[in-house]
Amino acid sequence: MFFSTRKSLPAIDYVSIVRSLYDDKRTMILGALATVVATSAGAYKTGSLALWALAAGFLLVGIARWLDMSVFERSNLAADDDEGASRWEMRSTIGACATAALYGSWCFVALYFVNDPFAELSALSVTIATLVGVAARNYGVDRLVALQSILFGVPLTLALVLEGDVYYIILAALFAPFFISLRKIAGTIRQFLLSALHGRIEATRLAEELDTALDTMQHGLCMLDREGRLAVVNNPARVLFARFNDIDWKGVPFTQALLAAAEAGYLPKLATRHLIEGIHKGQSRKAVMEVGRNFHFEVTLSSRHGRTVLLFEDITERVKTQNRIKYMARYDSLTGLPNRTYFKEQVDAGLAARAKRRGPAEACMLMIVDLDDFKHVNDTHGHQAGDELLTIAAQRLRRALGKKINVARLGGDEFVVFCRDSPARLDASELGARIQSAFAKPFELSDQKVRTGVSGGAVMSFDAADEFETLLTKADLALYKAKGEGKGRIVVFAEEMDTEYRYRQRLKTDLRAAVENEQLYLMYQPIIARKSRRVDGCEALARWSHPEFGNIPPGVFIPIAEEIGVISQLSAWVLKTATRECMNWAPDMYISVNISPSDFRNGDVRAMVADALEASGLDANRLEIEVTEHVFLEEKQAAVVVLEDLVSQGIGIALDDFGTGYSSLSYLQDLPFTKLKIDRSFVVDVTKSERSLKLLTNIARLSKDLELTVTVEGVETEEQLALITGHVPVDFIQGFLFGAPLPRREVAELIRRLSAKSVKPEPVSRTG
Ligand code: C2E
Ligand code: MG
Ligand code: MG
Repeated sequence: MFFSTRKSLPAIDYVSIVRSLYDDKRTMILGALATVVATSAGAYKTGSLALWALAAGFLLVGIARWLDMSVFERSNLAADDDEGASRWEMRSTIGACATAALYGSWCFVALYFVNDPFAELSALSVTIATLVGVAARNYGVDRLVALQSILFGVPLTLALVLEGDVYYIILAALFAPFFISLRKIAGTIRQFLLSALHGRIEATRLAEELDTALDTMQHGLCMLDREGRLAVVNNPARVLFARFNDIDWKGVPFTQALLAAAEAGYLPKLATRHLIEGIHKGQSRKAVMEVGRNFHFEVTLSSRHGRTVLLFEDITERVKTQNRIKYMARYDSLTGLPNRTYFKEQVDAGLAARAKRRGPAEACMLMIVDLDDFKHVNDTHGHQAGDELLTIAAQRLRRALGKKINVARLGGDEFVVFCRDSPARLDASELGARIQSAFAKPFELSDQKVRTGVSGGAVMSFDAADEFETLLTKADLALYKAKGEGKGRIVVFAEEMDTEYRYRQRLKTDLRAAVENEQLYLMYQPIIARKSRRVDGCEALARWSHPEFGNIPPGVFIPIAEEIGVISQLSAWVLKTATRECMNWAPDMYISVNISPSDFRNGDVRAMVADALEASGLDANRLEIEVTEHVFLEEKQAAVVVLEDLVSQGIGIALDDFGTGYSSLSYLQDLPFTKLKIDRSFVVDVTKSERSLKLLTNIARLSKDLELTVTVEGVETEEQLALITGHVPVDFIQGFLFGAPLPRREVAELIRRLSAKSVKPEPVSRTG
């Protein structure tokens, strides 16, 4: 009971309880003065000196306590200073106990000594009333209430008992529970007020934490009250609202402020309306707002129990990243033109718009534009120059075609153009001419000037059902035709091209299967030694008999085999079959096999040859490899190494079809040829034109000077043979005159016949 309250409470509670002891200075002094008046009245009436002394005591203690309370007020006791509070508790206890002792004494004097009804009544009533006040004021400190109850109660009870009147004794006995319950009441008040105090402290703490949390939030947040006005706004939201400084956000309902911001052009009207509607309907919604070009934020609206919360998230970076990604997904990074995907979207939109159109009919045109010599620029000047060329080409196209026409980069050196117009105005050749003239001037790259022409394949569409992919395929076919016809031209798609295309596609599929299943076969054409007129060797020539289309010439299927990537498989098969066949012939005869430039790129020619020789058991010097001039253009580096290796093994290397390409004898220095095969185009005119004969003669002479053996291809008539053998220093002759390409049995028979009999040529069947 007499322990300090300090020990039983947390500092914060203890301090506030001590503060409550000093709370009501005015009531205390008024009580003291009233008591002084009551005591003085009793003293005056009875003339009791003791009462006068008590009146003076009340006055002095009252003043002392007033002063003490004033000092406390100025002391600014900290909320957690429980040591300081303990000192103040002691001071207050001394003051309060002194007062209580005075009241107790007053009752004792009035009841026991003075014996005047007024003095008794006033002492008793004022004391009891004060005692109730004590419980109300000092409830916080149990010790104080207990001490005061004792100091009040003991002299009072003692006086009643000493009076000796049995009724006074009963009264004294009745006071006991009163004193006890007073203490109890004080305790209850203390508990009640402490928990209220705790609640307030907790609420303040929570409010502070919430404030901090709201202000440290990255996103803006505001809450509307039931009238729709701003009730809570955190810092980021305040910063956001401050952007629109002439809008009054606080004084009016929030939706009204939003509307004003939209009217002023700060916020997009549609999104604002969507948001306002959500607020009115109490719905949850999201809206993205674009403010200027560089600021985007997202508003998330949620409403519950009539309260609306708005969350503002700055999504500028997210939008920028999304825009960047969208740009990268839609545009070609090198030229800045739309890429294929985005172009398809544009064309699809254009075709859909045409299909919906009610007015006069519209035509569409799609054109693929391809740079003619891009590969050459890339290979000879490097990729950087290639990139520069593409960039300038894109700019020229853009400028030449204007804004209404869609231009995109399909990939590599291919661009694509799409436009819609009235059928009368849409003119592919006029557009083609515009493009051609845009490419007429040379391209000024960083360190050189280059020229490049363009080829184009265009398709016109008048049918609303046409789709992008179909148009692209048709334009591609037209481009293929343009390239095939010698580049630098624009070809418009015609239906036959589609038939051709389907035919070619069919050949591609079937050729792959034919090569894989070894369904091709070989013919052998004899090569005759000019002097001995004996068969010196044979050239193996591949044949493909298509089950539906019949014989497909090698001039058709060899390029297809190169295109679809089965040429190496085909060459390996020819090498194996031909070398095996050669083993059946006389031991001094050789076999000549054609090898494509693509074999040097994709296949391992050395391994193919080695495998064939090993499998057949043929001597290396009985094999000859024929390559054309294309190998210089396409795969020179790879070819030099391989061919030198083959020559070192004793294998012959012939330059085939000489005269059909660049016909430069300088090539002969770069590659290790052993033979030159002059193309039959030189022989065709030899009987009619002296010039042709001279050309043929000189080429052969030059080759002889370079120590190459010379074969003339395509000798078909006696006349040609006579002229050639008479003037041209050739070593070998190949042509229908001595023998067309023949199946293996027939060629074996021919070899035997020509070896055994005379050297005179005999007409042979032309099965090749
Ligand atoms: P090539 O290597 O120049 O073969 C000679 C071509 O001339 C053969 O045509 C042959 O039939 C033809 N020919 C021979 N003598 C005469 C003649 O007196 N008059 C006429 N008009 N033509 C004659 P073919 O068999 O149609 O082959 C054409 C081309 O296809 C070959 O030209 C060769 O470059 C290529 N080729 C053929 N078979 C193969 C092969 O297995 N692999 C590779 N890579 N190419 C081959
Ligand atoms: Mg050949
Ligand atoms: Mg040839």
